[in-house]
Amino acid sequence: MSLSVLSVASEAVPLVKTGGLADVAGALPAALSAQDVAVTTFIPGYRPVMEKLGKLRSVHKWDALLGKPARLLAGKLGEHKLLVLDAPDYFARDGGPYADASGRDWDDNWHRFAAFARAAADLAGGAVKGRRYDLVHAHDWQSGLLPAYLRFAPVAGSKPVPSIMTIHNMAFQGYYPASIFARLGLPGAAWSVDGVESYAGVGFLKAGMQSASAITTVSPTYAGEIRAPDFGMGLEGIVLARSNRVHGILNGIDPAEWNPANDPHLAQTYGPGQLAKRKRNKRALEAEFGLACDNGPLFVVVSRLTWQKGMDVLLEVLDHLVGIGGRLALLGSGDKAIEQQLHAAAARHPGRIGIRIGYDEALSHQLQGGGDAILVPSRFEPCGLTQLYGLAYGCVPIVSRTGGLADSVIDANPAAIRAGVATGVQMNTVDYQGLAMALSRAVDLFAQPEQWKRLQKNGMTADFSWSASGAAYAALYRQLIKEQA
Ligand code: ADP
Repeated sequence: MSLSVLSVASEAVPLVKTGGLADVAGALPAALSAQDVAVTTFIPGYRPVMEKLGKLRSVHKWDALLGKPARLLAGKLGEHKLLVLDAPDYFARDGGPYADASGRDWDDNWHRFAAFARAAADLAGGAVKGRRYDLVHAHDWQSGLLPAYLRFAPVAGSKPVPSIMTIHNMAFQGYYPASIFARLGLPGAAWSVDGVESYAGVGFLKAGMQSASAITTVSPTYAGEIRAPDFGMGLEGIVLARSNRVHGILNGIDPAEWNPANDPHLAQTYGPGQLAKRKRNKRALEAEFGLACDNGPLFVVVSRLTWQKGMDVLLEVLDHLVGIGGRLALLGSGDKAIEQQLHAAAARHPGRIGIRIGYDEALSHQLQGGGDAILVPSRFEPCGLTQLYGLAYGCVPIVSRTGGLADSVIDANPAAIRAGVATGVQMNTVDYQGLAMALSRAVDLFAQPEQWKRLQKNGMTADFSWSASGAAYAALYRQLIKEQA
């Protein structure tokens, strides 16, 4: 049976991206169309999105969507259906999707994303002529109120629609003071621990987890980790209480965006049998980052510069990395103190450490296509995409053993090397000791070219396409629709 699903996300490639959520939301429609599921993606009409899309057809109008006027516009996300919430009071501003140009969160984020979720609930409930959906798929806290609206304040007379709440990162929960509750347009019954209340405030992600028909997260290991306080971050109780409704489905790679054989950002494209060709990309990177040319490994990083990503630990090991013959090219932005210390390390090690602060999609591809190894020392990592791109590009991932990193990288321990299945290096602990030891192991492996080539080839030929994950989502959709019938 062919299904129609509304995927509700605050960002989606190629229109707006701050992290992995955008990659996933952008890739899901194609992954699911192979499963006979037609996905319509719904995103907010931020100013840059509206500029990119140009003129679109208006298909619905709200005089007051949680107090402000809004229109629903229909367009295309690649070959797939797209709906955009055009609400200038909420979304037409300079800066990022969630924060102003200085990085400060918008004060009215609760209002912006409550309105977005309300609009999605109206759509799901058939308020927009000609649109109906068998299921709605809400992503992250920005869409978290959607399942709650469907449960507590559905469109009058509408048929119940099953919903999924996907957690891309439990660290971002959308937690606001109780005083906003009265302005959400929810009935008093929603104000309970079984509804949207969370530690005496309103929890957007919590609301979604509590009200959705099922909860998914983006790797099997993370689905287990969020049952405990360290990773559940206060919401572990719901994960445990609803554990028979929690699923871990690993993200895949979108081959239209990430394929070294036809990546337009690379100086030189290549396949798994042409690893020597990567040299040209490596030379280009060395030039770009002002690094000396030598035969040692070029480590790369593409990351938000945060504590979650273990970037403070990276800073601690930089002298060791250089001391054992490595070089580093890093692209990232985030924590200002980390940025400053990275600049200081680059100044200490000219020609050995090159830093680029900022967000640069093309350069992120070039780092994967020319680096020898990508470092991902995250303290927690729901799925992680950069290690998957590293695998696909022959840029060997050096990762911590957590979440999706543990699920996607096979450590080059003696047994895995003997069996010929290793794809990277895992560190046991995210601290100086753990990362320094992992780097030393990588340098040793790199000094054995046949061994290293094996790691690269294993990664490049491993299947991290969306086909298995798309099938898992489609099976879950069908199960939930059946239960609801
Ligand atoms: P998260 O979503 O937690 O930041 P993921 O590994 O899931 O981490 O996804 C990060 C995505 O953002 C990847 O596609 C990565 O290439 C990209 N990315 C991160 N930092 C930058 C940057 N500074 N410039 C370009 N792309 C970046």
